[in-house]
Amino acid sequence: MSICGPKMKMDPTLHREKKPDWIKVRLPNNPAFWSTKSLITDLKLVTVCEEAQCPNRWECWGQGTATFMIAGDKCTRACGFCAVKTAKPDALEADEPARVAEATRRMNLRHVVITAVARDDLRDGGAEHFQRTIHAVREANPEIIIEVLVPDFNDRDWALQMVMDARPHIFNHNLETVERLTPLVRSRAQYQRSLTVLKKAKAMVDGKVATKSGIMLGLGERRDEILRAFDDLLAHDVTVLTMGQYLRPTQKHLPVVEYITPDSFDELKEIALAKGFRHVASGPLVRSSYHAANFRPELDVLAAIEADVRAAKGLELGPEHLPLPAPHAGLIQAIA
Ligand code: SF4
Repeated sequence: MSICGPKMKMDPTLHREKKPDWIKVRLPNNPAFWSTKSLITDLKLVTVCEEAQCPNRWECWGQGTATFMIAGDKCTRACGFCAVKTAKPDALEADEPARVAEATRRMNLRHVVITAVARDDLRDGGAEHFQRTIHAVREANPEIIIEVLVPDFNDRDWALQMVMDARPHIFNHNLETVERLTPLVRSRAQYQRSLTVLKKAKAMVDGKVATKSGIMLGLGERRDEILRAFDDLLAHDVTVLTMGQYLRPTQKHLPVVEYITPDSFDELKEIALAKGFRHVASGPLVRSSYHAANFRPELDVLAAIEADVRAAKGLELGPEHLPLPAPHAGLIQAIA
């Protein structure tokens, strides 16, 4: 991050072809990997693990976790870093929410991450599909922690509200990079818009959600720009941060300008925590959903969401739901 200046932008000759030793990928070595793979195939689900060529899939799938990507495998945007294909998307599959829910049940997940391609072809950007998926997952698995990693819905508040009305426990929307590089890295998105989406999402549910965001390093960002991104996220009420090394999926994607050392990731983590983030995952192979269950929302947030969900269903609240419902107490121990 220290070697970059404005003139360097994305000159392909800057690309660091040789990966350093600390970028290591673990190969599948246990049956859980293959059983996760076959379950995903059986249920005809799409995962960001595969579509984005995530380097951690051997590890995550081997531990029986995956991040589901709903609304198809074709994205309407063409971000310079992302391996998901850009094409005219297919129609939404009405039974996909139920299939995702079934997967969480069969995998016995205690924490699920649900993401989607950007669906700028749909008026709601896929918000209703998120809503239906959250409802289906909760119905099939009432104790699960639900994390959504969403696009910006073109800043349509009513679409964002649809997602928040379904009451995810964690709302994740990635900044992906620093402000200066945003037009290069994700041309159809805006840095400030992403910040306001994060802030608005939290406000829509009176603060009763954990908000999370992530940035990739190694794209040419400067240290002062990273620190400003920290401040900007904190000023927009984000409390969970992820940072990982950008890896170039193909030669058509943006070059890697720098491989950040593990020590630098550790140092940035300490700085971010000192600035006020509640939880920070930082390391070369960290991705938005990597070890996502290591973070759990505050107990009062979990209790408030549970109460609101039950109230929305017209269920009476008993004293056991204040401040923390009994099922969540066990759950929290399970994922701690
Ligand atoms: S880090 Fe996330 S996207 Fe990557 S394999 Fe793990 S669950 Fe999938």
